[in-house]
Amino acid sequence: MKVYSNMKIWMVSGSQHLYGEETLIEVKKHTKEIADYLDTQTEISAYIEYKGIVTTQDEITDFCLKANSDKSCGGVILWMHTFSPSKMWINGLKILTKPILHLHTQHNRDLPWDTIDMDFMNLTQSAHGGREHGFINTRLKIDRKVVVGYWKDIEVISQIDSWIRAAAAVNEMKYAKICRFGDNMRNVAVTEGDKVAAQISFGYNVLGFGVSDLAKVVEKVTESEIDQVISEYLLNYKISTELQENGSRHSALRDAAKLEIAIEKFLVKGDFVAFTTTFEDLTGLCQLPGLACQRLMEKGYGFAGEGDWKIAALVRAMKVMGKGKNRGTSFMEDYTYHLDPQNPLVLGAHMLEVCPTIAEDNPVTLEIHHLGIGGKEDPVRMVFDTKPGESVMASIMDMGNRFRLLVNEIETVDHGKNLPKLPVARAVWKPLPDFKTAAQAWILAGGAHHSSYSKDVTTEMLIDFAEMSGIEIVVINKDTKIPPFKNELKWNDLFFTMKGFAGGLS
Ligand code: MN
Repeated sequence: MKVYSNMKIWMVSGSQHLYGEETLIEVKKHTKEIADYLDTQTEISAYIEYKGIVTTQDEITDFCLKANSDKSCGGVILWMHTFSPSKMWINGLKILTKPILHLHTQHNRDLPWDTIDMDFMNLTQSAHGGREHGFINTRLKIDRKVVVGYWKDIEVISQIDSWIRAAAAVNEMKYAKICRFGDNMRNVAVTEGDKVAAQISFGYNVLGFGVSDLAKVVEKVTESEIDQVISEYLLNYKISTELQENGSRHSALRDAAKLEIAIEKFLVKGDFVAFTTTFEDLTGLCQLPGLACQRLMEKGYGFAGEGDWKIAALVRAMKVMGKGKNRGTSFMEDYTYHLDPQNPLVLGAHMLEVCPTIAEDNPVTLEIHHLGIGGKEDPVRMVFDTKPGESVMASIMDMGNRFRLLVNEIETVDHGKNLPKLPVARAVWKPLPDFKTAAQAWILAGGAHHSSYSKDVTTEMLIDFAEMSGIEIVVINKDTKIPPFKNELKWNDLFFTMKGFAGGLS
């Protein structure tokens, strides 16, 4: 069973009739062999379906129409084993709405030095067939991924899989629904945005509800439903003494469970994949949902605080991209710094809502502490440190005429401290290329304080995701230098402004 069992990737070869039937039979055979090989690789997370070869304008257009209308088709892999004149591709490519991966490979790995003849040359000419195909895609300004190398190379397979993972997220976002309990945190700018523009770019629909709608569901949660969830807590987490069954504050744990059950029911009923809360509107709720958000993120839902629907959707999209890797993805916020010049660090957390999939501690602890904001009873939360290692932070902002996806590659560190008085889950990291450059670049790019933190998702997947969605992407990594980074922002701004004036350049 593939990670994305309901998504198929279609693979075809482009060719023509110039070389005779025998060559076309070979092209079909080789294409099927490659599609079947990719399909059986465990590193490839979706089914790869061989769809034959296309040799005329009509066949190509027909292939594109079929791909468009099949909901299970997550994208197409195009290979030019021979030469496929690209005027034949214009009509098809103009209407194709699925992500494209141009696989620039060759059936044989090595040149058959001793036997090579003109028949071999006619059959095996992707070196220039791929260039003809590249031209027409570039001429049509189509964003696509070009993967180069022998089809059995592990690097080629890994690049194909990154694209598949991005396609799975894009595919889900097309039909996704995001639930907002309450509105934006008052006066905050970066969490705002154009929901219509988001639906045009990504497809997802953001729907708002009064918190009292949720409170009504909370009221109807039964004691036996709460018992069931409490038994899951007992099984999976270390519970602080006061929250235990005979502890002085056990009722707060039951309240937290009640919130979790109600939110999950609400999300399931409405077919939502992500949600937001806001501490400024908790009408009818006894505590800010902390544990509930953590548990629901653990189950795969996207989440963000303060009404930040863009980040909630991004957290979900990244959970889809990282599916099956199991190192974790969470809502995150840059919170505070360690400004030791020898070892500057960022401490990320939120009021409560960090996903335990990134936790180092196993099992994590359930605790109750006072929360100074929200004006409600003390909320229950999971408290933990985060596993060290390579990670990414991604944020998304509405720049007025497009969405900007901003990525920073970071190294989560084992800081070796206990933080005995900090009652929230947290991660501590070093951003690349270094603390000062990263923070400067993030701020120059207008990067939000909210982000999606992941150990499963790579920059490559996020680039593929942004290109498929037609949005801007800016990456801060080991190679980032401020002067060219500033120019990149200016040039991107100009590009997207021109794109808007032209009514869409792509
Ligand atoms: Mn926040």
